[in-house]
Amino acid sequence: MRKPWPGWMLCGAMSIGAMSTGLLSTGVSSIACAAATPLSRVEMRTLSAGDPRGLIDKVRGALDAGMYANDPAGEREALWWMGHAGINVSDDAAVTEAVARLKSLGSVGHDTLAASYAGFLTADLRIAHGDGGGVGDALQAAALQLDSPDPARRALAKFQLCDAYSMAGQARHSQPLCAEADAAFGALHDDWNQAQAKNDEGNNAYALDRYAEAGKFYGEARALYRKVGDRAQELMVGDNLAQVYLKQGKPGQALALSQASLANERAAGRESDALISQHDIVRALDALGRRREAVALIASTVAEARKAGLGSLLPDLLEQQSQLAERDGNLELALSAEREALAASRKRWSNSLGSQQAELAARYAAREKELRIQELERTDQIKNLKLRAAEADAARNAMQVRRQRGSLLAALVAASGLLAGIVSLLLLLRSQRRHAGELRRQALEDPLTGVDNRRGFFRRAHALLEKRGTGEAPLHALLLFDFDYFKLVNDRYGHPFGDIVLNISLQRLREVVGTRGHLARLGGEEFIVLCPHIGGAQALQLAEAMRAAVGGLVFPNAPNALDVTISIGVALFDGNRSHDVGSWLRSADNAMYAAKARGRDQIVVAQAVSDLLSQAGAGPQPAV
Ligand code: GH3
Ligand code: MG
Ligand code: MG
Repeated sequence: MRKPWPGWMLCGAMSIGAMSTGLLSTGVSSIACAAATPLSRVEMRTLSAGDPRGLIDKVRGALDAGMYANDPAGEREALWWMGHAGINVSDDAAVTEAVARLKSLGSVGHDTLAASYAGFLTADLRIAHGDGGGVGDALQAAALQLDSPDPARRALAKFQLCDAYSMAGQARHSQPLCAEADAAFGALHDDWNQAQAKNDEGNNAYALDRYAEAGKFYGEARALYRKVGDRAQELMVGDNLAQVYLKQGKPGQALALSQASLANERAAGRESDALISQHDIVRALDALGRRREAVALIASTVAEARKAGLGSLLPDLLEQQSQLAERDGNLELALSAEREALAASRKRWSNSLGSQQAELAARYAAREKELRIQELERTDQIKNLKLRAAEADAARNAMQVRRQRGSLLAALVAASGLLAGIVSLLLLLRSQRRHAGELRRQALEDPLTGVDNRRGFFRRAHALLEKRGTGEAPLHALLLFDFDYFKLVNDRYGHPFGDIVLNISLQRLREVVGTRGHLARLGGEEFIVLCPHIGGAQALQLAEAMRAAVGGLVFPNAPNALDVTISIGVALFDGNRSHDVGSWLRSADNAMYAAKARGRDQIVVAQAVSDLLSQAGAGPQPAV
């Protein structure tokens, strides 16, 4: 589903500027903005979709001419639109340049809006490249604005989050954010941005199979774009509406809308959008029974996407090609396109840092593709095809085979083509097993933080205890920790921010733990480190390093000096009190709860460790 041109800007938005408090005067200066910007905000916005390359050149020219020397707010807005123009024509250099300049405006001018713009553009770029890590960037950029006193900034943050989640296929997560952004832009009488939010609401409704609702949102978005005279956007939403029409069995109307959109995108040089429109046209042609045209168009669209390196579009296009080929009786192409689609979607999400939400969605998508491959492979059609091919081969070779083998069995096998069938099925089975292995690996990981999940922890712990030690090596330890008062973090700053806190903390803890142990998420905001052969003193030292590391973290734009702390329970595997994974975990858990009870942000060791440490003269530790 089509991404709207990200929007919202302060430049020229007098009502928004007037509402801002003095605190934000560096970020919102409508006077500076209006005075030196060679292009108005509406012009830039329109050009970013209508003539993206032209806009990039104009902004670069203005920067070179020093036109923004005394107008950082104007420069910020120009860079924002230059970045979008870059994304629209896949000009990564332009986007990267805009991001770098925005970052420096952000740090030099203490301009949090510029810093957020940089983050949102980075998110868009990564998402455009099919890298779900973009969602993490959007979350961090939004965190800078979510509790701004300026309603326009809050609306922006909500919209960008809505958009990032929507693009990452998280319609349910996205929808409430889009509804809030829609209402917020409505209250600000910002038609153009409200249209953006409505378009995303339409996309989410569509993704949730609520077509009538999607049609309504698209209709409203088109009306708003028409009202502000943005023809390119109106056509873009029209193409989204076309997909609703397809679902509603109106392919003729769908085709007309998609063709209008395609012409517009080609004229503006927006390759990636043009390919999406072509994809929609393929669907419409197919629904109209014009299969031959559909088959030809999907082949050229796939080829164009490959050539232009538009990896994020490939999985859907290949999927479509596979389905068309299957119905066309070309099962070899169906299978190879399906496989390529699977590989492309895996590649698309392979960069997992910060991309947990999207990655999770992608895993579901990959799983679905896998099921489809299996289904294809299972269908009688494919078996028949393979058997027919084998039969033809067998017939040709029958005489030779008989001579070579001379046995009745070989003759029968060859004649029926069964052998070839079995061989190909075995090959298919092997590839399925590889996929299954990969899925099994993924099943042991926590998608939010990338550390082991509960299942991964138990598997590792059982494996560790099964190995017999020498009796001399230091004991294994468990460091179980839970974030303190985490509900408050969510209540005060919102769940997305809570996610960011967990994410950043765990990345830091990974560094601290290093090779000394394996981090795992037991559930909620409770985690554990399994440390083989570490010994009591070292375990305690590590726990202290972890506690200090989390306590020292600084989170982006956390107002009122947000203090994040953890409470840690440490338990050694002594083979006595703790004699299996369950009892060991209970010891660590009890110790952790004792740490909570004693005031939090501290470490408590289970009795066994305490005994050992006092024997070793390391000084008594609080015990439970
Ligand atoms: P305590 O110090 O006693 O642990 O207080 P607490 O508020 O942290 O209480 P508790 O551990 O029982 O509650 C955990 C809260 O963490 C509740 C839940 O909403 C939140 N949480 C759990 N998992 C996630 C997550 O993945 N993301 C976010 N944002 N919040 C989470
Ligand atoms: Mg907690
Ligand atoms: Mg908890």
